[in-house]
Amino acid sequence: MSRVALITGITGQDGSYLSELLLDKGYTVHGLKRRSSSFNTERIDRIDVHPRNPEARLFLHYSDLADAGSLVGLLRDIQPDEIYNLGAQSHVRVSFDIPSYTADVTGMGALRLLEAARLAGVSSRFYQASSSEMFGSTPPPQREETPFHPRSPYACAKVFAYWAAVNYRESYGMHCSNGILFNHESPRRGENFVTRKISRAVARIEAGIQDKLYLGNLDAVRDWGYAPEYMEAVWLTLQQDEPGDFVVATGEGHTVREFVEAAFAHIGLDCDRYVVTDPAYFRPAEVDALIGDYSKARRQLGWAPKTHFTDLVRIMVDADRQLLEDERTGRLVRVDR
Ligand code: NDP
Ligand code: GDP
Repeated sequence: MSRVALITGITGQDGSYLSELLLDKGYTVHGLKRRSSSFNTERIDRIDVHPRNPEARLFLHYSDLADAGSLVGLLRDIQPDEIYNLGAQSHVRVSFDIPSYTADVTGMGALRLLEAARLAGVSSRFYQASSSEMFGSTPPPQREETPFHPRSPYACAKVFAYWAAVNYRESYGMHCSNGILFNHESPRRGENFVTRKISRAVARIEAGIQDKLYLGNLDAVRDWGYAPEYMEAVWLTLQQDEPGDFVVATGEGHTVREFVEAAFAHIGLDCDRYVVTDPAYFRPAEVDALIGDYSKARRQLGWAPKTHFTDLVRIMVDADRQLLEDERTGRLVRVDR
């Protein structure tokens, strides 16, 4: 019998990589898709299994982390072995503009899903997508025992969700684990996160369809890893006999400025000619430096990052160049779900 997983946030960067990983391992994968006025499944359209195909092992369901009833119904119907809660309003800057919504979906959404699992009586293992943003202003290196000091509505919501998962573990004996993932990027990263904004702009500047790149704080330090590798750690987290909380990171810190320089250098351009500081991208409170200590994940999960900073930059810039080329030659195909 194939194992069954439910992924919230399946249409996002991580959900798309995790669903590919689980399908490769023989799982049947159910994904929660929220109602949108336009198609929002672009990242998983490449998984070539139509729901009417008898071989299909990927199924999408309309639901929402804001809708408790639909979550209970979904869990009763699916009876998953594993639940991966990746769904969130995941943008830090935007969370200052829509704080209550962010708290509701990113924070309360996790609690709703945990409670839905309890009410539906499923014995699923539960993964909560926690974030290095929870450490906020506590200086690096950050590890599992490092105190949280969140600096945005997003990070406050993630702290609530983190403790909700711990609380359901302690209160009801549920197999709930937190992955405290540091920033992880890929060609599928949302276009308004800084790495993808940079790689996309570099490709467009090279193609002559963009003049300038407007950015905010270039001094922030982040520990950037490669998203597909981080989904291996996410899966391994739920394969442990005992639930637990794990930092997943590369242990290397770089400034936003270094990312910009490396991205422009990759195509032989000088970033100083193109980058303009725009205070509109500054945040009311900034997180200055995040660098993770992933010793526990290495020890207990047997996980370590393989892709490091320079390769990550190259992968992202080259993918955005290829994307422009595919758009130009009409090679991009959309799937109608
Ligand atoms: P994305 O923003 O790419 O994806 C977020 C997903 O959540 C999308 O599928 C989105 O749907 C879905 N979603 C948003 N609102 C709701 C809602 N109300 N109900 C149900 N689903 C909803 O994030 P990532 O893939 O990058 O990240 C995955 C998770 O990991 C998130 O929880 C994020 O906060 C967390 N995280 C990410 C890090 C990173 O560096 N990427 C670092 C640490 C934690 P739609 O496609 O329709 O918008
Ligand atoms: P975050 O770490 O989850 O907030 O991921 P982001 O990619 O959104 O931001 C990483 C860092 O880049 C933060 O310190 C931002 O302040 C900084 N940054 C600088 N310019 C920009 C920008 O134009 N967009 C975004 N998203 N971040 C920027």
